[in-house]
Amino acid sequence: MAGLRLWCAILSLAMWPLAAPAQQASFSALARILPGSVLTVQGAGAELVLTLSQPVPFRVRLVDAPPRLVIDFQEVDFAALPAADPGAVLGRAGAVQAIRYGPADAGWSRLVLELSGPQGIDAAAMTTDAVSGQAVVRIGFSPVDATAFATKAVPESALFADLPAGGQAAGLPPRVPGKPLIVVLDPGHGGIDPGAERDGQREADLMLTFARELRDALRRTEGFDVVLTRDEDVFVSLEGRIRLARAAGADVFLSLHADALPDGGATGATVYTLAEEASDAAAAALAERHDRADLLAGVDLTDQDDLIASVLMSIARTETTPRTDALANHLVAAIRENAGRMHRRPRQMAGFSVLKAPDIPSILLELGFMSSPRDLAALQEVEWRGRMVQSVVSALQRWADDEAASVGLRRR
Ligand SMILES: [Zn+2]
Repeated sequence: MAGLRLWCAILSLAMWPLAAPAQQASFSALARILPGSVLTVQGAGAELVLTLSQPVPFRVRLVDAPPRLVIDFQEVDFAALPAADPGAVLGRAGAVQAIRYGPADAGWSRLVLELSGPQGIDAAAMTTDAVSGQAVVRIGFSPVDATAFATKAVPESALFADLPAGGQAAGLPPRVPGKPLIVVLDPGHGGIDPGAERDGQREADLMLTFARELRDALRRTEGFDVVLTRDEDVFVSLEGRIRLARAAGADVFLSLHADALPDGGATGATVYTLAEEASDAAAAALAERHDRADLLAGVDLTDQDDLIASVLMSIARTETTPRTDALANHLVAAIRENAGRMHRRPRQMAGFSVLKAPDIPSILLELGFMSSPRDLAALQEVEWRGRMVQSVVSALQRWADDEAASVGLRRR
């Protein structure tokens, strides 16, 4: 859990606004390495502190044979360090045999620490000074045994393959005006995970029915292509759902649920967007249950060691979040107009894993609660579902108009 907390800490520390044009301009300038960058001995390990003229996405990885610590930045001018021996300026530590730097893939710069033996990363974080705009990267490492090192190290071949193309930190492909919006619909649960169950009805089945009806309605509407994460009663992992969405080139991801809450009082539709902090206890419980179902199905979601890829994610999120919020607001408005029945708090936030694609506006729509007899009956009525389908279609249409209007304004 310590790793996860650190991961979250980095996410929040690394957030910086990209919305204002002035900041975009400074972001595109090359970061420089500044005085205050130093390598210090920490027991049998070491800590590397790099002061940069501005924050940039970065990524730390271990590579074996020989053991190396590889740090990729997007993008840093290392000219302040002597190319032949950066250690002459940064300092020396027994854990580090030599330091090298150079360009990596397009738009990326690489700093390599050749290690004198297997070392594990204890901490890696970037903090940004709100006043100066400078960033400090701290990476601490200490000796581990060869087996532990081997489990953390990536093959050399992965070093280049994994870097996103330079200049596309946000990971957003340029949207072509006039091209249909690709909507990925995600009927919750399925297969060994039935979701909520009440009166012989399974959430997994009700959501598949609704998703198919919504798909058909969107296909009849101009400007939309639709992909379902599952079109039968099968289990798809939360990660697999996001992977499918990305493979489909999703412009928007909509996960469909109708869960049951133990207290039984909840009723009406709820529109969820992603947040680290759930907006209330029920939201937190729902998020936790969905993730647990995935874990029970034997899917390992714990591979969060790659701390630094999260910096890239936070940048993408900065851009995606306002668009997601806009869609959520359209959904609440359209459901109120057409279907009428919303939860008393219709807009909520929670840490649903299925919403965590940083570059795809993602929403989890609880159509109602199966624990509410009224909602459960509505979910089984063709007429009610038709009004709900129409609500989602109009919300997506309004959002598509927003997107078309802003497509020229957004940073690429
Ligand atoms: Zn559900």
